[in-house]
Amino acid sequence: MSVVLVLGSGGREHALAVALAASPAVSSVLVAPGNAGTHITPNVTNISLNFKDHQAVIEACRQKNVSVVVVGPEDPLADGLANSLTTAGIKVFGPTKEAAQIESSKAWAKDFMVRHEVPTAAYRTFTDAQKAKDFIKTETWAGYVVKASGLAAGKGVVVTDSCIAAIEAVDTVCKNFGAAGETIIIEELLGGEEISVLCFTDGNTVTVMPPAQDHKRLQEGDQGPNTGGMGAYCPCPLVSQQELQTIKETILVKTVRVLYAGLMITSSGPKVLEFNCRFGDPETQVLLPLLLSDFYDIILGCVEGRLSEVPVKFDEKNTCVAVCLVSGGYPGSYPKGKPITGLSDVCEEAGVQVYHAGTKLDGKRLVTSGGRVLAVAVTDPSLVTAVAKATMTASRVMFDGVFFRRDIAAKAIARYAVGQGGVTYR
Ligand code: AMP
Repeated sequence: MSVVLVLGSGGREHALAVALAASPAVSSVLVAPGNAGTHITPNVTNISLNFKDHQAVIEACRQKNVSVVVVGPEDPLADGLANSLTTAGIKVFGPTKEAAQIESSKAWAKDFMVRHEVPTAAYRTFTDAQKAKDFIKTETWAGYVVKASGLAAGKGVVVTDSCIAAIEAVDTVCKNFGAAGETIIIEELLGGEEISVLCFTDGNTVTVMPPAQDHKRLQEGDQGPNTGGMGAYCPCPLVSQQELQTIKETILVKTVRVLYAGLMITSSGPKVLEFNCRFGDPETQVLLPLLLSDFYDIILGCVEGRLSEVPVKFDEKNTCVAVCLVSGGYPGSYPKGKPITGLSDVCEEAGVQVYHAGTKLDGKRLVTSGGRVLAVAVTDPSLVTAVAKATMTASRVMFDGVFFRRDIAAKAIARYAVGQGGVTYR
């Protein structure tokens, strides 16, 4: 029986821990630092660990006899934690610092895509703000995207159709993100709908997961500021099996050492918006409830270079929808420590899984401790039912200032209604 260590504290890590704890081969899952949801999950224990201190992580793994470390967020990967663990002989699910550059340096990722002829938006990279502004003045794109090259917790991107706003954004991005904003990218605005395609890889075999769609904007109708993600659903009917195969061949197999691509489905085919080198959040919360195969086996298959021998099967009869409940004020500043009520009944219901993100226990009371607080994920054969149930369930959970979108997957439902669904449309 194996012990697995999951690093991170969000909804993604709660979902990873639940899926790993369900494996008959796993005796316990440790989560560092975890949240109130991982704390109450059977066979899951929160531990405190500073994962910037690689030696401390190595020692904890040895002491607790950890079989494999699953790294949730991107920062420890960009910081070389996977390299340190591998050197110490500890198995880790997550790329090396070098491979993680596909996410940690957007400039590196863009150059990589050009080198390997992976379709992506036109762009130029700058280290001089004035040159970036001069370039914007000379380009006549339909719109501009100004990006900090480095990791900026999803906040270092400004999307605008105005040349003047793009020029202003250059200063904002250069000033607000420290070293991450030293190199900036000016990119052509792509039109279309965004999807996330995640895959498992062992560096050789690529196994694509069903496409998911995140909802990045805060408000209904895709209005308001960008967030970490307000909800997601899977499978997304925007792409057919055949298109998914094309994405696999033209994008994923070429970038086999990375784990997940955010794509824009444009009128001239799918184009990569960004690569991530780890599971997406909240995509993980809608993918793992649909995974029928043993997640721990898949993780080990990836780490041990034998993914081709491991079954990876997703439930094709069901669909999963997650609605994220966030604190009032998010993605700006928001209060913490607000008591959360109404969860206990909700968690008992069939097909409903509540993943915690910004939650903690204050004595016996469950309170908020972050911007994204919870995700209510509902699995059902009908997308319409799953959305309705997830939205209704979300409205039964209360905390001061709670906010959630009521239109998750609305576009997919509309597409189904006019008969434009792809193969996975239900
Ligand atoms: P990124 O971190 O590069 O994925 O950018 C964050 C978000 O900005 C994406 O999820 C998109 O919603 C948007 N975005 C990024 N690049 C583009 C682009 N070239 N065209 C349109 N939207 C974009």
